[in-house]
Amino acid sequence: MTATEALPAEEALEPAALSSFQGQKLREMLQKLPGRNGFYTRKLEAAGVALADLTLPRDLHRLPFTTKAELVADQAAAPPWGTALSEPLSHYTRYCQTSSTTGRPLRWIDTNQSWQWMIECWKAVYRGARVGAGDRIFFPFSFGPFLGFWVAFDAGSQIGAHCVPGGGMSSAIRLSLLESLDVSVVCCTPTYALHLAEVAAAEGRSLRDCGVKVVIVAGEPGGSIEATRRRIQEAWGARVIDHHGLTEVGPLSFECWEAPGHLHLNESRFYCEVIDPATLSPVGDGVRGELVVTSLGRDASPVLRYRTGDIVVRRSTPCACGRTWARLEGGILARADDMVNVRGVNVYPAAIEAVVRDFPEVVEFRSTVAAAGALRTLRVEIEPAPGAGDPLTLAAAVGQRLREALGLTAAVQVAEAGNLPRFEMKARRFVVENRD
Ligand SMILES: [Zn+2]
Repeated sequence: MTATEALPAEEALEPAALSSFQGQKLREMLQKLPGRNGFYTRKLEAAGVALADLTLPRDLHRLPFTTKAELVADQAAAPPWGTALSEPLSHYTRYCQTSSTTGRPLRWIDTNQSWQWMIECWKAVYRGARVGAGDRIFFPFSFGPFLGFWVAFDAGSQIGAHCVPGGGMSSAIRLSLLESLDVSVVCCTPTYALHLAEVAAAEGRSLRDCGVKVVIVAGEPGGSIEATRRRIQEAWGARVIDHHGLTEVGPLSFECWEAPGHLHLNESRFYCEVIDPATLSPVGDGVRGELVVTSLGRDASPVLRYRTGDIVVRRSTPCACGRTWARLEGGILARADDMVNVRGVNVYPAAIEAVVRDFPEVVEFRSTVAAAGALRTLRVEIEPAPGAGDPLTLAAAVGQRLREALGLTAAVQVAEAGNLPRFEMKARRFVVENRD
């Protein structure tokens, strides 16, 4: 583990200097689109805005948003790659696809240049996590076509850390590796961090004995949900550092050591806006809205004003770590498309997780929204930990806390030990039947 090092200048720019830097990067990015990138050439022409007339970043709002649906439709119309690429296909060396389980996956490809740009984004994550040369990083993650921790792995080796891949092996084997390799850092999903702790406990072992100092979690919002991060930290005896990114955007934000539960936006490599998702107007600091991102340097496969669907609250006040990059208070609060209305109450999966993870007696859970319209009901199945006591008393307690937190009565049912699914990748604990 490295000591805190001086921050690079780009992470501590004064607001005026940061804005000027972003304006320059936006100009460079936009100038490369017309005539090269078919998708954005058409969008910019349709918007009828002369790029030369824009003062950036102030006038960026005059340019159109990009949605995932548009990109998916573009790939469907011009398969397999679509037209949102700025370079000849022969320049691309990396392939990823989104892990979306709903609808068609989005393919996203990178050149060596754009991949290296993403690696630089991950180096900022490692600086926030105080990870550097001399650390040994273990990745209990299946290295498939999802972006996941691929960039983290490459960035880890470039900062001089020793990177150990943990794909294609059982949890028990991963546990043995952890115990034998003197690992100081682990990168995985919050769910999998908890699952490994459960596997260890079942074998009478403890992750606290492994010597891991930092668990960097990504892929789900749990890293910023207080009850979830507390459980991970207690099980591992390590600090949780949350990270958030999107395949089509890149490694966007990270937690610093000094401000637990918040995510710094990497504002040197992304221009970030927060908008009201209904009116599409910008909202100020401290107001809940949807995060919109423009990548500044992923030249081969850029996104312009991309609507992430992530609901956030932004704060630009100074952080104790010295970074001037804005923070997302409480991390990613919700996904716009995850919200379900149950009998007049808006229900978000993260709100349920925040309640259930606060019960150490519950090892796993699953929520199901059944039926549609006015008949919708919320059912939460909980799996008690071994020795958790009377399961019906536990179910009643969880039900009461859910009612207080959500303003909604949920049917809490007890599941048999081992009956609920465990997840390594993005957990699907929130099931919506007959979504309309
Ligand atoms: Zn900070």
